[in-house]
Amino acid sequence: MVSSSGTKFIFVMGGVVSSLGKGIAASSLGLLLKQRGLQVSMLKFDPYLNVDPGTMSPFQHGEVFVTDDGAETDLDLGHYERFLGRSLGRENNVTAGQIYDAILTKERRGDFLGRTVQVVPHVTNEIKGCVLRLADRDPDLDVVITEIGGTVGDIESLPFLEAVRQVLFDLGRENCLYLHLTLVPYIATAHEIKTKPTQHSVKTLREIGIQPDILLCRTKLPLNQDVKEKIGLFCNVSARDVIEARDAESIYEVPLRLEAEGLSQRVAEKLGLGEREPDLEDWRRFVRGVQMATREVRIAVVGKYVDHLDSYKSIIEAFTHAGEANDARVRVEWVDSENLNEATAAEKLTDMDGILVPGGFGHRGVEGKVAAIRLARERGIPFLGICLGLQAAIIELARAVAGLPGADSTEFEPQNPAPVICLMEEQKGLRQMGGTMRLGAYPCRLVAGSLARRCYDRDEVSERHRHRYEVNNAYRDKLAAAGMRFSGLSPDGQLVEIIELPDHPFFIATQFHPELKSRPRAPHPLFRALVAAALTRSQSKVAVS
Ligand code: GLN
Repeated sequence: MVSSSGTKFIFVMGGVVSSLGKGIAASSLGLLLKQRGLQVSMLKFDPYLNVDPGTMSPFQHGEVFVTDDGAETDLDLGHYERFLGRSLGRENNVTAGQIYDAILTKERRGDFLGRTVQVVPHVTNEIKGCVLRLADRDPDLDVVITEIGGTVGDIESLPFLEAVRQVLFDLGRENCLYLHLTLVPYIATAHEIKTKPTQHSVKTLREIGIQPDILLCRTKLPLNQDVKEKIGLFCNVSARDVIEARDAESIYEVPLRLEAEGLSQRVAEKLGLGEREPDLEDWRRFVRGVQMATREVRIAVVGKYVDHLDSYKSIIEAFTHAGEANDARVRVEWVDSENLNEATAAEKLTDMDGILVPGGFGHRGVEGKVAAIRLARERGIPFLGICLGLQAAIIELARAVAGLPGADSTEFEPQNPAPVICLMEEQKGLRQMGGTMRLGAYPCRLVAGSLARRCYDRDEVSERHRHRYEVNNAYRDKLAAAGMRFSGLSPDGQLVEIIELPDHPFFIATQFHPELKSRPRAPHPLFRALVAAALTRSQSKVAVS
């Protein structure tokens, strides 16, 4: 079990309550170490029994983040990619479902040679194998940061915690570091911050054999030296290793705050990772750009998961990146597509500087999206459609302009008279739901002279997909005659990847998900162009009034 490559392993756990921002804390540490010149990769363990989040409802799980290699992963992978500036893949997100699936496959094959299959050592070995494999496959890696989902004390997390405890036993203290994120709540009536929940959570961790090396304490108020010493004493860590993680306005500020508290230096000292300071100049510039933006645009996102904004995580972040690049703050107005018809769309959306229709599944809310797109098309409002947003734009134009009033997707109306969106041949016979969509990165050729070509400034791009349905090629001519341009196609020309309307200030839609590839210092070209078009609209409104 000893990793031969000299890679160091950091484990990030969380206690007290969920939603403390473990993913952001882990990503922030990843960025700090990377900016110290180290090669860093990250791994997320999710203790639930689903094989992946692909079959879970967005209401349950939030966004499904798709990687280049087509894995449907936890949304924290999005934060990892955005903070590390590096693309990850299937092996960077492992669920309990995958662990048990692998073990049961081996058991049926007879690999265990008649032995009883148990949580320790079989499940724990499988878990450890996922961590060590990352280091073995990439000998250049200096650090692997592993985040364990859930909260310490959960029944489900136990095998994962036991496995990461064993990693220290296997590899030695000089190669492992445990970081625990807890909450230090402020109790207003007592005018006090309370350390007890942290003490209890660390006690639970120590009962299972893990002594955290560093505590990250999420807090509304600053933690003074006395509080740090008290936490340190009860939790058996030095006060220097009690690190304040104060609430920040933007997630991108978090690494800067943690660095001001000395996080990366403490980690580097404990693991012998060198003395170099992290170079955070560029990141600081980005954060300043986000905070100091002088302009503002209002962009409506018309979707059906608007009460669960985690479902649109990467879209929100893509707007932050694109806003910064345009010196603008993007105010996103969330509009529920279920309650939208032509009249309410006009009322709610006419004043917007831009409209984005995101992806989605199922019939509910689709007519509202069609109504929003009609308004965007007719009133010249800048529009970006993503995945279902592209499909709805095709349906809209087919019905309103191409003389196909009954047009629909076979996802919503299997027997409709003009199936402008339909299943791909290879999808037709599929019975299994999980992992069977068109998933991951595909190349897309951009048509010369198109808006898409201008935005990207390249002839071919690679973008990530997650959908079953496609534009029906039998209707391409009719749609083109109605004014639609197919400006991005698969290299064989068979799949429509981008559409646009040339007679419109900015109307473009993609079958893929551009938001998944946007990064702080590399905003996605289409988001950047949407925000720029929205700024032009907002300025022309000022000029008119
Ligand atoms: N439901 C559509 C499909 O499967 C769109 C999917 C999406 O928007 N991600 O093709």
